[in-house]
Amino acid sequence: MRIGVCHYPEALPRDGWGNDARSMKALGLDLVRIGEFAWSTFEPARDSFEFDWFDEAIEVFSTAGLGLILGTPTAAPPLWLSLERPSILLTHPDGRRAQHGSRRHVCMTSEAYRSEAARVVGALLDRYAGHPAVVAWQVDNEPGNHDSARCWCDECQTAFSVWLERRFGTIDALNQAWGTGFWSQTYPDFESVALPVPTLAPHHPSLLMAHRKFASDQSVDFIAAQTRLIRARVGAGVEITTNLYAEDLAVDARAVAALDGLASMDSYPHGTGSPMTTAFHLDLTASAAGPTTRAWVMEQQAGPVNWTEINPQVPDGQVRVWTWQAALHGFDALLYFRWKPARHGQELYHSGLHRHDGSPTAAFDEIAATIEELRRIGPLPAPRPRVALLHSYKDAWAIDINPHRKGLSHRSIQLEAYRAARRLGLEVAIVDSTTDLSRYEFVLAPGLQVTTPERILAITGALEAGTRVVLGARSLVVDRENAWSDQTLPAGLHHRLGARVVDHLSQTDPVTIDPYGVPAGVWTDVLEAGEAAVLATYSGGTFLDGRPAVVENAGLFYAGFASEEAWTALLADLTGATAGPPDTEVFERGARRFVIDHRRLTVTW
Ligand SMILES: [Zn+2]
Repeated sequence: MRIGVCHYPEALPRDGWGNDARSMKALGLDLVRIGEFAWSTFEPARDSFEFDWFDEAIEVFSTAGLGLILGTPTAAPPLWLSLERPSILLTHPDGRRAQHGSRRHVCMTSEAYRSEAARVVGALLDRYAGHPAVVAWQVDNEPGNHDSARCWCDECQTAFSVWLERRFGTIDALNQAWGTGFWSQTYPDFESVALPVPTLAPHHPSLLMAHRKFASDQSVDFIAAQTRLIRARVGAGVEITTNLYAEDLAVDARAVAALDGLASMDSYPHGTGSPMTTAFHLDLTASAAGPTTRAWVMEQQAGPVNWTEINPQVPDGQVRVWTWQAALHGFDALLYFRWKPARHGQELYHSGLHRHDGSPTAAFDEIAATIEELRRIGPLPAPRPRVALLHSYKDAWAIDINPHRKGLSHRSIQLEAYRAARRLGLEVAIVDSTTDLSRYEFVLAPGLQVTTPERILAITGALEAGTRVVLGARSLVVDRENAWSDQTLPAGLHHRLGARVVDHLSQTDPVTIDPYGVPAGVWTDVLEAGEAAVLATYSGGTFLDGRPAVVENAGLFYAGFASEEAWTALLADLTGATAGPPDTEVFERGARRFVIDHRRLTVTW
């Protein structure tokens, strides 16, 4: 795994760059990312580009032997541009234009912004496209972050109408697919399908689903345009990627990764989630464009951040563990954020590899030791997961729109099964159903909300090839428009399963799973076994006591529960694996077996 760091020459004194570069190299780094927020420094006024300072920065870092990742600066336009062309600014649901300032306050649909983005990227390409030290280009920065993918401007409204017309052809087709007779919501034409603004009661779930998909598509189009510009001008060995923030759901990471084959993510685990949540994000990114996706961590937390609720201290040993975790999850590169902390701006408490006075933080020595360890181990064989977790953004949006219980989400229902698999030492590819599922022994599908003919074909194809498929609670209930299926559930696989789902409960009683004696969780599905074998039953609960909790027919399972404990017990039964301690990850890599114990912050092999 190549290791690097993010640097901001526009904010740091020139006379320090040389020392920074030599010190990076001495630390063992070989990549540095620069430029992704520097538009106002590249172009202080329209068409008056000032690249001399950037030339010098590139010269300094490349002379030191570092490979450069150049960021396109479109996550934050300069003020003169917002003043000159205010239509580039994002519009909030209440119709207010976003104020200029901070970041991501731009509309991904705006033709003006797309043309300005092409212009500044073109200027960067004119100067640096052939530079031998540039190993990669990063397009934009964390699109969708801060809930910025959705915009309510007039251009987005028009584009949404066009997008819907392309999807449905006629307004009658939309009205029928969405069932707009409900609450008298029938539309006379595509122009009258308003982007969803706050209403007294909830909005129509099909409209909300379409808006999420449309907004993701607009961001992907925006990224794709820059990707195409760059790809046309750089050599085949130069990477192009867009870094997504790991927690975001706004932009479909698979569609972004598919643009040029390299996925990347920004990873800030401490203060935001558990070690297994981080592992989930890594696996989601690592298989974003299919099983052979290459993946980078473009920003890796290296100390406390400033933007979570608590921003806790990062303990000694944690940065080493995060670095190893990325390497063992199959990542090809990792860049720490950031070389020196900012003295100005919104991230004053956001730490890096140095303090503001230039002295190294605890992470510095830890990173040096970790790089040396990774060098001694040498290249790691790629992961070969036996298990796949079926995941799609459409499922995530559907459940987030209709969670059925406050506080639950697609991410939470997927994490129950994911953590169970990892606890059993099973490595997991997180894929969608366009992947050949038959390459896995087991496919887990909790919260697989959306049923489509293509998805059903992919699952039945895998079953015929001998893969065992375990559907989890809340699976195969809505169509791609987020309308409830009129088929017997699980829709599309009811006949294959020989059993049916007759109800979905938001559980209020304590319920356990027999014979395992573990909690079922609060999302429970009521099953009628029919011709399927009953492998486990519910115990307790007014509506569930004694009823089937897990059924199976010829390799297809339905598990009605949603708890890590129940998934662990069932998967242990199915795979013969034994559960290890929580928050511990096991990786088989060639002849070596690596264990990360996140509780003790140890990595052993
Ligand atoms: Zn807009």
